[in-house]
Amino acid sequence: MKVRTRFAPSPTGFLHIGGARTALFNWLFARKFKGEYVLRIEDTDKERSKTEFTEDILSSLSWLNINSDIAPIYQSKRSDIYQETIQKLIREDKAYYCYCSRERLDELRESQIKNKQKPRYDGTCRNIENTPGTHDHPVVRLKNPSNGKVLLNDQVRGEVSVENSELDDLILARSDGSPTYHLTVVVDDIDMEITHVIRGDDHLNNTFRQHNIFLALGETPPIYAHIPLIHGTDGKRLSKRHGAVSVNQYRDNGFLASGLLNYLVRLGWSHGDKELFSIEEMIEEFNLDSIQQSAATFDIDKLQWVNQQHMKDTLGADIENTLKEYFSTHNYMFDDQPSLMNLYDAMKDRCKTLQELCTASEFLYSDIRQYDDKAAKKHFTQDKIEILNALKTRLINIDNWKAENIHTEVKSTADAMDLKLGNVAPVLRLAVTGGANSPSIDLTLELLGAKKTINRIERAIEYISSTV
Ligand code: GLU
Repeated sequence: MKVRTRFAPSPTGFLHIGGARTALFNWLFARKFKGEYVLRIEDTDKERSKTEFTEDILSSLSWLNINSDIAPIYQSKRSDIYQETIQKLIREDKAYYCYCSRERLDELRESQIKNKQKPRYDGTCRNIENTPGTHDHPVVRLKNPSNGKVLLNDQVRGEVSVENSELDDLILARSDGSPTYHLTVVVDDIDMEITHVIRGDDHLNNTFRQHNIFLALGETPPIYAHIPLIHGTDGKRLSKRHGAVSVNQYRDNGFLASGLLNYLVRLGWSHGDKELFSIEEMIEEFNLDSIQQSAATFDIDKLQWVNQQHMKDTLGADIENTLKEYFSTHNYMFDDQPSLMNLYDAMKDRCKTLQELCTASEFLYSDIRQYDDKAAKKHFTQDKIEILNALKTRLINIDNWKAENIHTEVKSTADAMDLKLGNVAPVLRLAVTGGANSPSIDLTLELLGAKKTINRIERAIEYISSTV
């Protein structure tokens, strides 16, 4: 049978890190077994579902390249099939109308709590003949088996079970006729021929209930893998308190999609002590057996480290569009900018995110407002005026402003003055960047361009002269 997985978010919030990881695991599993992965938007809750959240989910997944193999399914467009299924269950005596009023159910609940019983529906309407009219808007409940138990062989948790006597007759259709989450999930998982459901282990209790709906419909439930939740470093469930939780925020903060995916795959799953994975390696190595049972910890420092490794391993040419989009949406596009690909390749080793790369590149297009204090005290001494003048004279004559030619001239300046490159480069760097950090001096100058280089050398000479 062809493997088919799905990611089924409810568009009641932005796609967060946990959802993205669930999507990734499902997608990887389908890729690995040459199956299919389906995105299903569970938008039946009209009040809480918002188009902006659906759009956010779609754009975040598309940025991560976790694409559905068929057009995304929207539950809001499938009410006919849910209604047919509800009627079928009633016809087959697997479900029944429940006319109990809200007040009666509240009273029942209160007395059960008082008697230290687990609050649950008592089955009053289960065996009576349906009497439409006593209550115009009945709900529909599943006739949950009264005996036996639900036994699941979860791919992460192993064997887990619950007694049927613990489960009450859950509602399949509300009093306005609309289907509940449990019903729609089961109908869709059957209709879409889902073979494996990989989802957060906060759904385990839902799975027991959904299992009985599958059986009532005469179907075999899919194989389940309940993955551990994600906690913050304080051991509490990941939430906004821990900082950014939505995928788009990470995109905006300059993480590469490949870096974020690599970090996510290791949240609760491991392959020996390997930390860095390309997408191909993830597909190759991913399996359900190596998913851990205990909660995974979200650690922003590690995410930054992983992202940094991906930045180092990525060529500017491979992410040209990403760079263009990032620089332009963050207002870092300038007329006289060096090629973004060259800029990226020169700067990437020293940056953990694209945001850092933008900030670190600022000296290329903004005038230097202030020289770094410490560096200026050390390098802007009077004897450097001569060196800067000599550099200017040689650099001004370069025809082809390329790193190798720049290197030759800087080196010749040092040689002619009987100095080491180490005596010349720091003052030149400070003059053209305003600070003490930048890529190699020849590359820095190439990126900056001849005109700005010469201007900045002249400005530095003036500055040093004025500090006598
Ligand atoms: N729509 C559910 C949610 O967002 C997930 C349903 C499922 O995975 O079965 O929590």
